[in-house]
This record gives sequence, structure tokens and C-alpha cells, in this order.
Amino acid sequence: MRHIDEIIIHCTATRPDWWKSKSAAQKVREVRRWHVDVNGWSDLGYQILIDRSGKVIAGRPMERAGAHTKGHNKQSIGIALFGGHGSSAGDNFSDHFTKEQEDALRRVLADLQGRFPIKKISGHNQYSTKACPGFSVPSWLHDKTVPPMRPPVSDDVRTSRRQSSTMKATAVTSIAGAGGVITALSSLDPAAQYIVLGFSALAMVGLGWIARERLRKWAAGDR
Ligand SMILES: [Zn+2]
Repeated sequence: MRHIDEIIIHCTATRPDWWKSKSAAQKVREVRRWHVDVNGWSDLGYQILIDRSGKVIAGRPMERAGAHTKGHNKQSIGIALFGGHGSSAGDNFSDHFTKEQEDALRRVLADLQGRFPIKKISGHNQYSTKACPGFSVPSWLHDKTVPPMRPPVSDDVRTSRRQSSTMKATAVTSIAGAGGVITALSSLDPAAQYIVLGFSALAMVGLGWIARERLRKWAAGDR
């Protein structure tokens, strides 16, 4: 097995709906045909491809160096995302690729990092003036923020006076919010009403929790 310590991300530069009715395997075969028949390469340039649906397909065998990034193929793995047509290097991942692709790519990266001593994950555009893969890989990797399970409780409330006015404001917002929901609900069909009511109940529980936490802190003298 060759030494692998880098992953380089690419896109196929196809339109979002390119070959939409075809399977991921068929699309991969078509890209392989471009690389072999048109470019005259020995095989598909990338080792891994990720379809719009998030489906991951193997390309060139991992033990063989790819043909995807000039001067950086020997120790790297090339991953291509289907899509990216008309993209620029500074676009966001979500401008050109699906959530399913994002989840799949993060899974694939984690898997490869577990199997090889990966030192760097980069985008083709870091090695060439091309837009490929159509976003900044370092920023995308850095932005891996998991939304908090609970809304953060503001800790900038220092005095009991400000505390109580904030709590009143929270209560008023809740009541006003509930009124608005009930008015809006009557215009929806019954199924949608249940869904909206379910989410509203969750929101109320969340607001109740915030209020309770604030009160608890206030009572504990954390003013
Ligand atoms: Zn590329």
C-alpha cells in the first residue's frame, strides 16, 4: 500500500440535475469514460465519488495514486462531489452541494482519518487557480458547528431589576407568540395544525426552561 497522508476534495463540475434519472454507479461510469476515453488516463482520476443523494462510490483503487491534482497525487486520496457547475472558489458548500453530500463527505473523511495518517485535508483550488471544488475546504472544515441542544442562557443580566424586566419581557413574548400561533392555525388544514402545535409545545417547553433557569440563578443570588 502506498503512503497516504492527504485528502484532496474536488467536484465533477456537473449541473445539479445532471443525469438525474441515472444511478450513482452509471454517473461514475460516465465520469470514468471521460477520464479514460477522452483524457486517455488509465482509470478514473478520483478514488471516491459522492453522488447528490449522498451515495459514496469507489473509483480508482485506493492503493493506486490518482489523477486529480497535478503534483499531489502520489500521497493523496481524491474525492469528487457530483455538482459544482459554475461555482467559484469562495462559494459556500451549500451553494452547490446537498446536505446528504455534506453528511456523507464528513463520514468519509472521518473514516479515512481512522485508516490513514492524514495530515491535511484540502481543496483542489488550494493547488491551482481552478474553482474546484467550488468552496473553501479549510473554512468548511472549520465551520463544523453542531447546533446547541438547548438555547444558551444569557449571563449578562447582573441586577435583579434587569432580571425581572427580562423575565417579564420573555413572558409577554410567549403570550404574544401563542396568540399569533392560534390565529395562524385556523387557516391551516388539520394535519398541519397538529404539526405546528407540536413544534409550538416544544418551543414553550424551551422558553419555560430558560425562565426556570433564570429564576433559579436569581434565587441563588447570582444577580
Ligand atoms: Zn478538481
